[in-house]
Amino acid sequence: MKRSPITSNNSNNLADANQPWSPADSAALYCVEDWGNQYFGVTPQGNLAVKVPFNQSDVELPLMDIVAGMRERGVDMPCILRIENLLGHRLSILNQAFEKAIRESNYRNVYRGVFPIKVNQQSHVVDEISRFGQSHNHGLEAGSKAELIIALSHTQSLDSLIICNGYKDEEFVELGLYARKIGVRCFFVIESLAELPIILAVSQRLSIEPLLGVRIRLSTTVDGHWQQDSGDQSIFGLSTNALLTIVDQLKTADMLHCLQLLHCHLGSQIPNIRNIRVGVQEACRFYGGLVKEGADMGYLDLGGGLAVDYDGSRSNSTHSKNYGLNEYCVDIVETVMESLDPLDIPHPVIVTESGRATAAYSSLLLFNVLDVRHHRAAPIPESLLASAKQNTQETLSPINSLLHVCEHFADMRLQECYNDALFYREEVRELFKLGQASMRERGLAENLALSILNRIVSEMPKIDRIPTEIEDLPTLLADIYYGNFSLFQSLPDIWAIDQVFPIMPIHRLQEKPTNDAILADLTCDCDGKIDQFVGPNGLQPTLPLHELNEDEEYYLGVFLVGAYQETLGDLHNLFGDTNVVSVRIKEDQNFEFVHEFHGDTIGDVLEYVEYDVKNVQEKFRQLAEQAVRAKRISATDRREMLKAFKDSLQGYTYFEKSQ
Ligand SMILES: *Cc1c(COP(=O)(O)O)cnc(C)c1O
Repeated sequence: MKRSPITSNNSNNLADANQPWSPADSAALYCVEDWGNQYFGVTPQGNLAVKVPFNQSDVELPLMDIVAGMRERGVDMPCILRIENLLGHRLSILNQAFEKAIRESNYRNVYRGVFPIKVNQQSHVVDEISRFGQSHNHGLEAGSKAELIIALSHTQSLDSLIICNGYKDEEFVELGLYARKIGVRCFFVIESLAELPIILAVSQRLSIEPLLGVRIRLSTTVDGHWQQDSGDQSIFGLSTNALLTIVDQLKTADMLHCLQLLHCHLGSQIPNIRNIRVGVQEACRFYGGLVKEGADMGYLDLGGGLAVDYDGSRSNSTHSKNYGLNEYCVDIVETVMESLDPLDIPHPVIVTESGRATAAYSSLLLFNVLDVRHHRAAPIPESLLASAKQNTQETLSPINSLLHVCEHFADMRLQECYNDALFYREEVRELFKLGQASMRERGLAENLALSILNRIVSEMPKIDRIPTEIEDLPTLLADIYYGNFSLFQSLPDIWAIDQVFPIMPIHRLQEKPTNDAILADLTCDCDGKIDQFVGPNGLQPTLPLHELNEDEEYYLGVFLVGAYQETLGDLHNLFGDTNVVSVRIKEDQNFEFVHEFHGDTIGDVLEYVEYDVKNVQEKFRQLAEQAVRAKRISATDRREMLKAFKDSLQGYTYFEKSQ
């Protein structure tokens, strides 16, 4: 896996909080322009705003305005915020970009996109896709029976396509054939030899001819995380010989005219445009081969893969892409023409199945920070330093040695201070284990060592060559910000595939952030942390954040999470679905809460793992009843406890602040 370089120490040099700071500095620090794709920007007041393009101009709405609306409506954090307009905009520009490339190249056919439902199956998302997609005849891709049912219930135009990938049983095929009869352009894409006999049998029984496609396995490989989906090792698609077998079987059944579509999918998030070109070229060879075999071809489906620039680096690193949308479309259209024109093959309908690039921008995860743990030493009392100077025998000698380093820090090399801090701290810990140092002495030694390490970190930006041993110190001593969310539920790809998402505060951007932080979620799982962030010099191990203010929530946003994050989530520690709010922003800068979905209650998640909530309640009642009988609590106590228990079952699974 290729990664953008991680800058090992933080180059932000946040130490000087007194320097003048402007919202524009924050925009640069968090790289908003790089990843925001013009959908996000920082306002002069220091708020992060979502920018929605309208015909006349963009409308900018600070996210804090939406958060205020959520608070008024009793929607707690964490919350997924969906900006409907962005979904619509993505869909439009994808279609427009292909239309433009087709027009300018004199390509003699059309583009028909489909949205793969698996990327975000939430009904409001699919509703919006089909609503916005109608004017472009944008269809849907289904990978299972359940998704086909969703697709059929959202088909509004007979000119749009439904592409069925994945394994298809008899029931699946029956459903798709009925759709055919109604007039829906529903393609079965054959992925394995086993599928064809089922399709042929059901088709014969119902006397309905199918529309068929074949998914081929390209030998082209791609960069990025999904490398293994491409090339010979891919578990998907037909080998050349399997494809020929299918062609022969269709000929025998006198059904070759049903085969009209060639499908390939090189993998998701393809960072390198050159891979895409080579893949399209290879796919066109197969397309030509099928035409030559006599199939009634007309559709070339190039699958997904259009990438999102999560880290804003515009590079061919895993989290980025080295091409723009127009380039992607032009390259595809031109490559198809260059490959098929010499063979005199009519231009096919170009189909793509872009999921990530369509859905990612429209959702963001908002959460509040509950607590911060600093790795900062407590101040060292002057009296202690003074007593160390006199070197009284009352103090343990390793503690004296640590005090000595504190005194002479400026005269010593950083590496020497580092060695001494670790050495003498260890010595005191050993003495503690032997019963020869007290708990207070150990505490003192650890604090002195920490104070030395803190000073080393603050000196590091001033020196040119940082000894390798202390390079990681800033990360090890980073503040830990505890966020009210579950990584496993809301950002599963961070855990599963080290995905990088842009993360930043959505307010206070007029203030200089003073702390270098990593993020931890509520799960107490050591994997429930985020320590890879987008920064101006590439990926970085810490995120600059502000000190928490009293009586004020601190809100962070995780961006570009509309694709793949919502339904892969799991119930780690039984943190359930989060609240979800969809807003539609109007041209007059007003906005509407179009959908509000309250996340799981504790009772809900208990039922997911097969607990009977009534039974759980009854058991607690019995426990309390016994305590009443034993006179440990009063009957009134019991009543209150049972009420609290019941309220908890109906409460949100995340951290709820007391009102
Ligand atoms: C997952 C998948 C897609 C979507 O890919 P994106 O990279 O999200 O656009 C398209 N087609 C198939 C067959 C898929 O499995």
